[in-house]
Amino acid sequence: MSNLIIESLIKESISDEDLDEIVDKAKDYAIQHGVCMCFKNNYDRNKVQLSRFVLVPTSFPKLEFEKGIVIQKILNKLIHKVAYDHDFISKTTKSVIEADNFTAELFKIYQTVYQEGITQKYSLGLFRSDYMLDDSLKIKQVELNTIASSFGGLSSQVTKLHKYILCELDNDDKINHLPDNETASGLADGLVAAWNIYDNNQGRILFVTEEKTCNICDQRAIEYLIREKNLKIKVIRRTFKYLIENAKLRPNKELIVGNDLVSVVYYRTGYEVEAYPTQNEWSVRLLIERSRAIKCPSIQYHLAGTKKVQQVLNNPKILKQFLNDEEARQIQDVFVGLYSLELNEEGDKAVEMAMNEPEKYVLKPQREGGGNNIYGENVKTTLENIKNSQERSAFILMELIKAPVQKNYIISPDNKRPQLQDCLSELGIYGYIIGDYNEIKENQQIGHVIRTKPCDENEGGIIAGAGALDSPYLY
Ligand code: ADP
Ligand code: MG
Ligand code: MG
Repeated sequence: MSNLIIESLIKESISDEDLDEIVDKAKDYAIQHGVCMCFKNNYDRNKVQLSRFVLVPTSFPKLEFEKGIVIQKILNKLIHKVAYDHDFISKTTKSVIEADNFTAELFKIYQTVYQEGITQKYSLGLFRSDYMLDDSLKIKQVELNTIASSFGGLSSQVTKLHKYILCELDNDDKINHLPDNETASGLADGLVAAWNIYDNNQGRILFVTEEKTCNICDQRAIEYLIREKNLKIKVIRRTFKYLIENAKLRPNKELIVGNDLVSVVYYRTGYEVEAYPTQNEWSVRLLIERSRAIKCPSIQYHLAGTKKVQQVLNNPKILKQFLNDEEARQIQDVFVGLYSLELNEEGDKAVEMAMNEPEKYVLKPQREGGGNNIYGENVKTTLENIKNSQERSAFILMELIKAPVQKNYIISPDNKRPQLQDCLSELGIYGYIIGDYNEIKENQQIGHVIRTKPCDENEGGIIAGAGALDSPYLY
């Protein structure tokens, strides 16, 4: 069955001349408002360019968007409760740890601090739950990110950009259909709230960054908003490499970086294998975890964001361990089929199912950041190779969501005139939460983003792939 088609806001009949003019305006608006990044290819910190974005917002059913908004606080709470349930985290990740070194290293850190007694009871979560519309135009969750959820810093600007473009296209009557979007401010609120809980005027907020930060404008947008909200708070940006040499703990577990006391640690790296080239990076992650600083995310939040946890939660009985019946129903409603590939009868059944109809599923390892999943015929060939080994427990199997198609112009930082092309979109809803074992101090839904990719791409990474920033037009 082919994908459903939703009518686009842009007319196919636009002349080249008019298109060039509107694209020109859009590009300059984007630059002026910081919808920019550095690209991975030939990275140069002095070459900040436009992010890819689409010319007009994507039509999105209002009730489904609102559903995503309403359930965000339930999802925040769910992840929080899961993360603080030692037995659940240990049991759920066990089979994965045996097959996947990366998750095993994360779990080792968790186990170490858990046994020592966790110094900082509070965790800060800046989460993004991602959805695609299915073929009945209902939102279905793709995943929930608990670490380094990106594009919140840029998405507020994309909403403004699209309002501007609609007006330029004489569609000013339509701009009320674009929901307000203050994600960047909401993310900054979360970090400031954590800083306030730590309660030390000298405390810095540490952004742990990659050696080469592509998404610099996204991150700086949050930093500048922190400063606007509280003139006392200084953000410092440091890489793991720097921290290996310069981070230490005082006897009272205060985290000292260089000469600074750090009260909040915000990871914008650390979710991918490449962030830990040596054991030293793992050691410094452990050192930070042992500290009194409030971590975003704490190691238990990081583990609660794994694909394995997502798969295990797709069971009403398990959901009800953490949520009331009505909340569990609302969450279950956005789930698609998720299957364990553990070495047991249940896993065998899933393997067989996927091998019979590989085009209906996605095979997912415990990885973040895009580009790691396996699709189509490769699902079959991969399973062929690993079906009798422990290796298969490192993956989960997920039903493929067949999203509707909508035409749009993807604008890139080059001189080519963009072509109207068939696109698929993914909605992200952001939330923040702060809490400990006993209480949730803050729980908020804070905004949204849409990421749109050409139809023929399996994944739409904005930095690495062909994806573009977008915003919803509610109908
Ligand atoms: P990551 O943590 O690497 O972002 P995701 O689970 O979000 O992993 O998968 C990456 C991309 O793969 C998604 O953004 C989406 O484009 C595509 N994808 C993932 N799961 C599905 C699915 N069930 N159906 C359709 N596309 C999917
Ligand atoms: Mg992810
Ligand atoms: Mg994703």
